[in-house]
Amino acid sequence: MGDLSDETPSRSPSQRKRPLKPSPPAHRSPAMVHGKVCDSVLLLQSYQEKCPRGGENIVVLYTTTLRGIRKTFEDCNTVRSLFESYGLHIVERDISMDSGYREELRVLMGKKEVKIPVVFIKGRCVGGTEEVLRLEEEAKLGLLLEGLPRATKWCEGCGGLRFVMCMGCNGSCKVLDSEKKKVKCGECNENGLIHCPMCC
Ligand SMILES: [Zn+2]
Ligand SMILES: [Zn+2]
Repeated sequence: MGDLSDETPSRSPSQRKRPLKPSPPAHRSPAMVHGKVCDSVLLLQSYQEKCPRGGENIVVLYTTTLRGIRKTFEDCNTVRSLFESYGLHIVERDISMDSGYREELRVLMGKKEVKIPVVFIKGRCVGGTEEVLRLEEEAKLGLLLEGLPRATKWCEGCGGLRFVMCMGCNGSCKVLDSEKKKVKCGECNENGLIHCPMCC
């Protein structure tokens, strides 16, 4: 009875001519598309206020580049690349490069043993690897990162290393005092380095 070659009515050519609404482009974080400032603020306020030095409006990561504990080292890499994928300017404080960072973190967290990495966003302690990965999975990380400054090119002062060699002792950690005796340089850390004056 019916003609098998007929198409279903909904597929008729006249209907197909209607302009199709382009589907919205896929964003990695849906939260950012509908981003309401209040959501972002509320989410941020659910975290404890703990602001590392200069960390009011930036991401600060405390990490290590020592491979001593494999899991810790890999966690640091994971967290670092996650934030880099957002193209944001991040401040990374490598405690293996400077024991001052470790001390700073201890004071900030109010305890001696702090698990690395630790992430601070806009002066709030967001947690470590697990917490950050969960936020990313729930598409909330983008919300927290709203409005943060974009990454710039490598710093001209240090080439992105965030440290430069101490000029006081040329990196030897030793200087001569008034009696020409070798004493510890007071300008630099245990590696003869100072924080880059241009970016840290
Ligand atoms: Zn620099
Ligand atoms: Zn020095």
